[in-house]
Amino acid sequence: MPYTIKNLIRFDQRNNIFGRVIYDKNSDFYQIGIYDNVKKIISSNKVGYSYLDFAKVMSSWTAYDYFHEAFSWTKLKDANSVMIKPKLKKLQIKDVSSMTHEIKNISKNFGATQVGIVKINPLWVYSYDLDGNKINIPKDCEYAIVMVIKMNPSMIKESPNFIACAETGLVYSKMAFCISCVAEYIRNLGYKAIPMGNDSALSIPLAIDAGLGELGRNGLLITEKNGPCVRICKVFTDLPLEVDRPIEFGVKRYCESCGKCAEACEADAIQFEKKPSYNVLSKSNSKGILRWAVDHDKCYNFWIKNGGDCSNCIAACPYFPSL
Ligand code: SF4
Ligand code: SF4
Repeated sequence: MPYTIKNLIRFDQRNNIFGRVIYDKNSDFYQIGIYDNVKKIISSNKVGYSYLDFAKVMSSWTAYDYFHEAFSWTKLKDANSVMIKPKLKKLQIKDVSSMTHEIKNISKNFGATQVGIVKINPLWVYSYDLDGNKINIPKDCEYAIVMVIKMNPSMIKESPNFIACAETGLVYSKMAFCISCVAEYIRNLGYKAIPMGNDSALSIPLAIDAGLGELGRNGLLITEKNGPCVRICKVFTDLPLEVDRPIEFGVKRYCESCGKCAEACEADAIQFEKKPSYNVLSKSNSKGILRWAVDHDKCYNFWIKNGGDCSNCIAACPYFPSL
């Protein structure tokens, strides 16, 4: 296994940075949104921070932010009364291997760049969601189809300006499209499907377990082909599938002597220590994971100053794909 854990407990999503914006009165970013400074930033006339650039950011998130049914845990209602879809009987899976092949192909068809399957480690499921509801995954939903979608490297290289932010938003919207279509495909076969973006469970460890990459010093998934220039989404299901194995291609050792992401971080949020440790730097770090914890408080404060998210630690990584 390419990571080490001890005494790990399930993470409460209200403690991630966006949850703490809502609930953590002791944080210096309580109730401060990342776009709160945008008007001032636009008026500064900096390249890559224009009104038009910001309009791209806002529109890029449309499917992820407004297509709530993409994240439905149950089958979607028919869109109109003249196109009622017939309910077919549950498909009996005789050949799990070919079903797995099929699900990977269909996921790629719907936009995934890479797909891995894993038996879910319940420790990676959030204990509570952002609204404070306990998360209970149905017991028979044992598998996660974990998908990564590649971001456009030339847009991400613009980081931290709004052009890179618009690419992040666009790929989140692609995630909403991809997971909802994969989930409906599975439901049409008569099985359960729970599509997820960043909600409900930690995406990075699931992706590592599913053999899609390793954890980098920057706290992100490093894939073999596209480095950290990807976003992760997943679908939990009871459809029987064959699982993949974690992979190792030397990321941890490389990170020990690299540190380019830490140099590129304008917030000083990434550690320079040679070796990973169990130290945490922020209330938003899960405890019990051997890694280079990222100071999410410093990171988020930079996002507020920047008027949008940041991809400096993605763009600086030697595993970043060539343009
Ligand atoms: S996203 Fe930006 S601010 Fe946050 S850790 Fe990465 S480089 Fe630093
Ligand atoms: S920039 Fe270097 S240290 Fe940072 S994640 Fe990439 S390889 Fe690791």
